[in-house]
Amino acid sequence: MSKRHDEGQTVMAKWPGSHLWFHAKVLKNLDGDKYVVRFEEGTEEEIAGHHVLSENYFGRSGSKSPSRRRSRSRSRGRSPGRTTRRRSKSPAIKTPKVAKANLTPTRGSRASPRKAASTPAAKTTPEPKKASPEPKAKSSPEPKATSTPAKITKMEVKKVVEQKSEVVHRYATRSSTNKELVPGLDLKPGAVPKTTEYEFGGPIGAFLLTFLLPATVLYLYGVCNKAHCDLVFVPHLPKTLDAYFSTNAALVFLGWFAFQALIYMLPIGRLADGVPLRDGRMLKYRINAFFAFVVSLAAFGAAYHYKAPFVWVYDNYLQLASTATAFSLIMSVVLYIKARRAPKSALSTVGNSGNAVYDFFIGHELNPRIGSFDLKYFCELRPGLIGWMMINLCLCAKHCSEHGQLSTAMTCVTLFQALYVADALWFEDAILTTNDITIEGFGFMLAFGDLAWVPFTYTLQGRYLVDHPEHDLTNVQAALIVLLNLLGFWIFRASNSQKNAFRRNPYDPKLQRLESIPTNVTNKSLLVSGWWGLVRHPNYLGDLIMALAWCLTCGFNHIVPYFYVIYFTILLIHRERRDHLVCQKKYGAAWDKYCERVKYRIFPYIY
Ligand code: NDP
Repeated sequence: MSKRHDEGQTVMAKWPGSHLWFHAKVLKNLDGDKYVVRFEEGTEEEIAGHHVLSENYFGRSGSKSPSRRRSRSRSRGRSPGRTTRRRSKSPAIKTPKVAKANLTPTRGSRASPRKAASTPAAKTTPEPKKASPEPKAKSSPEPKATSTPAKITKMEVKKVVEQKSEVVHRYATRSSTNKELVPGLDLKPGAVPKTTEYEFGGPIGAFLLTFLLPATVLYLYGVCNKAHCDLVFVPHLPKTLDAYFSTNAALVFLGWFAFQALIYMLPIGRLADGVPLRDGRMLKYRINAFFAFVVSLAAFGAAYHYKAPFVWVYDNYLQLASTATAFSLIMSVVLYIKARRAPKSALSTVGNSGNAVYDFFIGHELNPRIGSFDLKYFCELRPGLIGWMMINLCLCAKHCSEHGQLSTAMTCVTLFQALYVADALWFEDAILTTNDITIEGFGFMLAFGDLAWVPFTYTLQGRYLVDHPEHDLTNVQAALIVLLNLLGFWIFRASNSQKNAFRRNPYDPKLQRLESIPTNVTNKSLLVSGWWGLVRHPNYLGDLIMALAWCLTCGFNHIVPYFYVIYFTILLIHRERRDHLVCQKKYGAAWDKYCERVKYRIFPYIY
């Protein structure tokens, strides 16, 4: 039973989402069983009454002594779900040992953004701090040994710092834009609530996009091919069905898909944890996409050596694109039917509107799996992304066979895109915390995007260069474009890595020089210097610079090869706006302060 505590009283309060108890001051008694407290290091939290105990509670003799009971909770591999469950069962079995340690690595609240906004904490406008402060336990005077369990040794401080860092590491997100499931605090067991806010124009938009997106792939093929490359309203496309579908194209597509699935299932590569699900479980994901890439390249090399007819891919490009589209459509229907039978807790929060067209498009089930085979995760990086690379190589083979050797432009664009794909595969585990994995269901939007859109629109430059060999780059042009691509890659990689490192461990000594703004979400500060002080999305800036470099390899004779950079600019501006709204909701005043400090969204001094 929780005891009533008065405002201003010093108490022991349990740090949300952890098993740690700290000294805190009661700021407000909300309804008798909830308090707003301020921890010693300044964080304000809303805490359930049974997690607020009198100051001398742990000083009492008897079975509450935490030192006798703490060992299990130190285990590194503990799941946050279990933390939550255990916490609710026995709040008394806790470790107050760090109560005086004044550890301040985590800031803000573990409450959900919406909840936090209603607490006094949300109203505080945080001042920027130096990122990754040294744990105060190091600099503060060593707590005096007392006979109470609140006494602390250096070793214990170190353990707790490590443990907190581990928590940060386990729950930190690299690039997701809506982390309702993050730090084990917002687990909401039970059925997923109905989706009430539509995106992409709701069911009508979803319906139209289901046709418009595949039509765009065909359109690009129809307006830019060997015969011509012009933006015309009616594309030149064949009128017979066999120009779109053939048994061979189906076999090649399915064979490629199966080949990648086989590599994915090999017990090679470590297993990584996903973010905690609603029920507290964390799915395991095999990290071997880069291995799959290397194996695919080796297989390509061997087949090329034995003169495999790779030009076939160019000659049957339209059939392969149609097959990939048809496959993703069929797969999405099957996924939707499967999702209808899935437990209600396994659905996606954004694809559960009850409208079949909308849910089919966005994706109804969050993590559809066949056994341990995760369909969404598999499709996200492997058949499509590696497929993009393989198609590029086949286009190179075609280019060589037609023109005797690779042009400079073709070499550049292939290498640029190879670098981009290799980077995505190398950092495969970054995807586990993105919206695509943690929020979006697996429906037509992702399935088509992964399997058809990426491989058959991102290869447009390569295809253009095969079809239009009259264009090539001079050495100077090539050098400038290479520099531009490297600049983009540097900004993209350095900014992503900086944020990832910060999210993984804000105490990373390498980040100490960076300034950050504390927020009301635990473990989440906002970088306000370094790359993230330049613009709000430096990674998008880098990505767009690379996109421009790829398109520039095609020269200025035609606009169609610039489709990628135009479409991508629109996509990232839209994405940035969505992310801005999510962060505004989540971080409140801290986000406003960040935006005040960092004025430009993507392009410095422009936008
Ligand atoms: P980001 O990686 O930019 O992630 C945005 C999130 O980062 C925010 O929600 C917030 O999440 C966190 N964040 C924002 N500002 C700060 C800050 N100042 N300090 C610390 N954290 C901050 O976005 P995406 O997931 O959209 O993109 C990931 C990468 O993928 C990008 O490089 C992008 O260019 C690329 N991309 C490529 C596409 C393609 O088709 N080639 C398509 C889309 C994206 P939190 O605070 O919760 O951590």
